Amino acid sequence: MKSNSRISLVVAASLTVLGGASAPAIADSASATPVPTSGAEWFSAGRSAIEANKLVHRELNTRRAKNVILFVGDGMGVSTVTAARILDGQQRGVDGEWNRLSFEKFSDLALSVTASANQQTSDSAPTATAMVAGIKTNDGAISVDQSIARKEFCAEVTRAKSVKTIMERAEERGMSTGVVSTARITHATPSVNYAHVSNRDWEANNTIDSDLGATVLPAGCTKVKDIAAQLVDFNVGNGLEVALGGGRPYFEPNTKADPEYPTRMGRRTDGRDLTAEWAAKPGAAYVWNKAQFDAVDLRRTSRLLGLFEPSHVKYEADRANDAAGEPSLAEMTRKSIQMLQKNPRGFYLMVEGGRIDHAHHAGNAYRALTDTIAMAEAVKVAREMTDDEDTLIVVTADHSHTLSIAGYPSRGNPILGKADTGLGLLGVSPVAKDSLGLPYTTLGYLNGPGGWTGNGSRRELNPATELYTAEIPFSGKRPDLTNVDTTNPNYLQEAAIPTVGAETHAGEEVAIYANGPRSYLVRGTLEQNAIYHVMANALGL
Ligand SMILES: [Zn+2]
Repeated sequence: MKSNSRISLVVAASLTVLGGASAPAIADSASATPVPTSGAEWFSAGRSAIEANKLVHRELNTRRAKNVILFVGDGMGVSTVTAARILDGQQRGVDGEWNRLSFEKFSDLALSVTASANQQTSDSAPTATAMVAGIKTNDGAISVDQSIARKEFCAEVTRAKSVKTIMERAEERGMSTGVVSTARITHATPSVNYAHVSNRDWEANNTIDSDLGATVLPAGCTKVKDIAAQLVDFNVGNGLEVALGGGRPYFEPNTKADPEYPTRMGRRTDGRDLTAEWAAKPGAAYVWNKAQFDAVDLRRTSRLLGLFEPSHVKYEADRANDAAGEPSLAEMTRKSIQMLQKNPRGFYLMVEGGRIDHAHHAGNAYRALTDTIAMAEAVKVAREMTDDEDTLIVVTADHSHTLSIAGYPSRGNPILGKADTGLGLLGVSPVAKDSLGLPYTTLGYLNGPGGWTGNGSRRELNPATELYTAEIPFSGKRPDLTNVDTTNPNYLQEAAIPTVGAETHAGEEVAIYANGPRSYLVRGTLEQNAIYHVMANALGL
């Protein structure tokens, strides 16, 4: 009775909003109310959610958007969202299954088909290109179309096959623009905004780990610029205002030592110091640690480059251990919006939770889920700082991963723990067993480094080095997890198929969550490149 009356209050609040003005109702009122405890309460909660939806669809926000923010959880498949929602709730001491992440409260939702022009299961380059340029293209391609070769060294050919991005269109219109990532800012997902190149691996011009440095070109061709150089040289409109992420050495000459790790040198062989070039622009600041980031004077700074690690920034779970200090994704999002909001013509911002993907590739669900929760926190900040009436926020993933949630564990069973049978008495449910009589975890991967390797070891993740250690001896069958703490942050979930390297992406649809002007265009099963067209339509481009 008590919880029913609280559910009615939520509907009443939505009605007030309808009569009064601004913020549209939230489609799903779950998690704002207590967990139902009877059939009647479940029935009432389900009906309340639909009553709230009826209010949303009576009041479509057909206005033009002033601002668009695109959040990309790299590799954030639906199973990742489910598991992160449960972990977040369990960490906060509330019902995990009833919990909702910030973006799960958005008004509109669709499925995104992630196959690229040439891949059934895609990498991040064509999927990110789809979202910001409106086309499908081939593996490795950064905002160039599918007619280009994977290694097209010629700048003139690349230019002819380039596709204009939403960042470029926004800049042409006088809007401010930015890109934020926990990956290297030159990595595939962030780079599609400002770069055009056939090969995502050409992040710097060097000859050490990229073949861009040594190439001999055909007559009449100039060499295509590497991705870091394209970021600093980006000059559509008045250039992008904000770029925050990792990847310092890609911007620095190979004669210059890294400020945080002095034994590491820059990667550039063309003598350019791109961080110094950026800092020399009018109103520009370059920062590489948390203290400098916090000290940025927003009144005097109109352009901000922040590079917080030589490669990707730390996983959220390890961020506190960073020697020089790094801002969180939510802190980077807040600072970016503060800078971009200064422009009365509006802004476009992409924010990538880039390391959800990396932790999955490592076979480590804990870091993938805690980075998903960190991105949900960044979405919450973005929504609080903007107005639903003029800001379209889209949250999606570029592709999925092979994480699955299996067994029949009880509601409330630790999501990182072993599946129980759900058949216990007095609140104690026995651990479920496989056909060998061995326990298994709720979370697992189809493939990846958590599988048994041929040389008879199983590995765990060393968070300091992000490399694997051999830990559990091979028994000739599945490991006996009876005495293994699978909730340890470094535990690698088992994989059915052991891979030499990383766990792979997965090819099923991912979700698109949208809120704000024209968010109702996000419905049904959409090809991924439709996301660009939703954003462009909302901005009136
Ligand atoms: Zn990946």
